[in-house]
Amino acid sequence: MSLNGKRALVTGATSGIGLAIAKALAEAGARVMINGFGSPEQIATAQEQAGGALYHGADMSKPAEIEAMMAAAQDQLGGVDILVNNAGIQFVSPVEDFPAEKWDAILAINLSSAFHTTRLAVPGMKAAGWGRIINTASAHSLVASPFKSAYVAAKHGIAGFTKAVALEVATDGVTVNCISPGYVWTPLVEQQIPDTMAARGLTREQVIQDVLLKAQPTRQFVTVEQVAATAIFLCSDAASQITGANISMDGGWTAA
Ligand code: NAD
Repeated sequence: MSLNGKRALVTGATSGIGLAIAKALAEAGARVMINGFGSPEQIATAQEQAGGALYHGADMSKPAEIEAMMAAAQDQLGGVDILVNNAGIQFVSPVEDFPAEKWDAILAINLSSAFHTTRLAVPGMKAAGWGRIINTASAHSLVASPFKSAYVAAKHGIAGFTKAVALEVATDGVTVNCISPGYVWTPLVEQQIPDTMAARGLTREQVIQDVLLKAQPTRQFVTVEQVAATAIFLCSDAASQITGANISMDGGWTAA
């Protein structure tokens, strides 16, 4: 499928799922701007892998920086036809010990950032009569796990936000969907293993087998390439009637 001439912005694309989506968009012909944190080498590698992508380092917890990124996308990319709201963080703790600043950061990065990018991207998409907004939600947009109260709240929130905006732009040629992966082996998952070990009193192997993969009937991790392929499909004409959807890619987790 060709996305030649399309301009794509992917948040949180220096690593994991976002990087795989940025690479796939570039391979399909889109010009890409990536965002996210990392060392200069990590960022340069991500840019190279995403077809010589532009980069903006906006902190997704800061609305003024998001506004600067959207202005840069307008100036340097010429606009945004495909917006992928993917940046996200995790923190694992019982609710009574959950640090308030972690709650605020998760809500800001995993949910509110998508509001800010979307409100700024929608006018251009409406004017062009074509647009794709793809939000990386999670199986946790549909079901909960203990000790992830902020993440589950933010992901349920983004699923609702997706539906509301999809209805608002339904006649404008713009689709708005979320992809909800189960566990994908990325730094985000790897980094929560020590805290989950502590919160549940388990070994590393027990966390992988008895907490993570136990949730997925297929007993396999989802791959970043599989998530990216779904994002590319959502950009196609074949997907033009898919809007407001929450597409599960969780090895059967939420079927149970
Ligand atoms: P990751 O840690 O590999 O990547 C996260 C990306 O977000 C990185 O590029 C990071 O620099 C960026 N980021 C973090 N804080 C940021 C901030 N304040 N401003 C800008 N960028 C910031 O994680 P991942 O697993 O690829 O996660 C990507 C998305 O997928 C997240 O929204 C996550 O919730 C979601 N998700 C992940 C899984 C999984 O199992 N890995 C499952 C479901 C959903």
